[in-house]
Amino acid sequence: MKTIEHWINGTGTPAASTRTTPVYHPATGQQRAQVLLAEPSDVDSAVAAAAKAFESWGDSSLSQRTKVMFAFRELLVKHEDELARVISSEHGKVIEDARGEIVRGREVVEYACEIADALKGSFSDQVSSGVDIHNFRAPLGVCAGITPFNFPIMVPLWMHPIAIATGNTFVLKPSERDPSVSRLVAELYVEAGLPDGVFNVVNGDKVAVDAILDHPDIAAVSFVGSTPIAKYVHERATAAGKRVQALGGAKNHAVVLPDADLDYAANHLVAAAFGSAGQRCMAVSIGLAIGQAGDELVEILARKANAVKVGPGDDPSSDMGPVVTKAAQERVVNAVARGAEQGAKVVVDGRGRTVAGHEEGFFVGPSVLDHVTPEMDAYREEIFGPVLGIVRAGTVDEAIEIINANPYGNGTAIFTKSGEAARRFARAVKVGMIGVNVPIPVPMSYYSFGGWKDSLIGDSPIHGPEGVRFYTRAKVVTTRWPRTQASFTFPTSS
Ligand code: NAD
Repeated sequence: MKTIEHWINGTGTPAASTRTTPVYHPATGQQRAQVLLAEPSDVDSAVAAAAKAFESWGDSSLSQRTKVMFAFRELLVKHEDELARVISSEHGKVIEDARGEIVRGREVVEYACEIADALKGSFSDQVSSGVDIHNFRAPLGVCAGITPFNFPIMVPLWMHPIAIATGNTFVLKPSERDPSVSRLVAELYVEAGLPDGVFNVVNGDKVAVDAILDHPDIAAVSFVGSTPIAKYVHERATAAGKRVQALGGAKNHAVVLPDADLDYAANHLVAAAFGSAGQRCMAVSIGLAIGQAGDELVEILARKANAVKVGPGDDPSSDMGPVVTKAAQERVVNAVARGAEQGAKVVVDGRGRTVAGHEEGFFVGPSVLDHVTPEMDAYREEIFGPVLGIVRAGTVDEAIEIINANPYGNGTAIFTKSGEAARRFARAVKVGMIGVNVPIPVPMSYYSFGGWKDSLIGDSPIHGPEGVRFYTRAKVVTTRWPRTQASFTFPTSS
């Protein structure tokens, strides 16, 4: 049985860990490895390595840091196949989708390649006689990232390239469900010329997370995962005096107006609801059908959902792979059952779907539930599986009210031919990322990613300019040449 180790100070190591947890191949349902679960002393070792590395990396030149980022970017391109296969084997998503997350994550590395521009300060000449002012941003020190299973390479890439390019060192605690790709990333950083100790990986569960949250030598924590854990991480790490980014769960609505091209909208809804088996924080889990769009839309959706090809991630003909664990499979099946009990109409039923030759795999088929209402569990809970609920609404204003009353506010979309309706919608919804005829509006890396309400705890979105701000702090320097006599009065300009 393969054992997945930690990566500390440029080398793979079991450190002092003895506890393990299984890592599965979701398409076969078989255990493929076990991953070590760190003890607090292992987190101490990683943080000590990162703190030592910060002494020189924090002082390294911008050209040295960008050189590493350019090389790292090339290696992510060169090893895309291998990375995608490893992701698919532990997460279950189809290989093309795994490539998609590698590309979107790589875009953050490309942003980090331009870090010199993002870190430019400003300069004011002669603010007083012989006095100038300039500012710049300094790194924080050791930063940590705690990441979810659903994007095992992309979400960590939202964090560490920017942290490292701005001069920090990093300790990553990836999801224990699909940890292997983080080891490959660590090796690519070494090949790219990153000094030992700048990037470290500690595998683990709550024990490792708590050790990170309390560690006195960690300056900042980035978290992406479910809302209850995001709240916990935010509270505990801020109480320990750290900067915290904490991105949580989601329930994303796509509004379809009667004037929309319904076939186009349905194609996008099906891809956004069932791609990656619905395990995306920007997945569309609720379709809001307005007025007479409803019946026809549901009919087209049902046809397209029934045509989704469910199969193993490494079969190029599969549209959708399994969900990540047996527990996730059971959660999805139960959510559809409760939806039916509470009055939703099960138009497409993905329960009990099996894949020939993969009978033990964690498969469920796509499900479409019609006439879902905001009181039902199928509306209120983040199912995080291939289940699309359809809520009927009379007007766009009613749809906006429903969206704004939802506790989550990650992403939303509107399908319409009316620019006026789209503009009004975008301005009125209390949601961080909005798509107009775009179902999954994930911003490019040079913007920042983040929801509102329970989808982002605290006030710091991730990557882009907000990422640079998060991983640095400002200094303002006031300089006088030539030196003049001191005065006892408070300095004013002259
Ligand atoms: P999760 O919250 O269970 O786990 C996230 C991380 O927290 C993992 O590293 C895990 O080991 C750790 N963790 C889990 N339970 C913990 C506990 N009790 N104490 C301390 N640490 C704990 O999330 P997941 O199931 O891996 O991922 C799916 C969730 O992530 C969904 O809710 C999804 O919406 C969310 N997500 C959000 C975004 C976003 O950008 N907002 C992006 C991706 C995923």
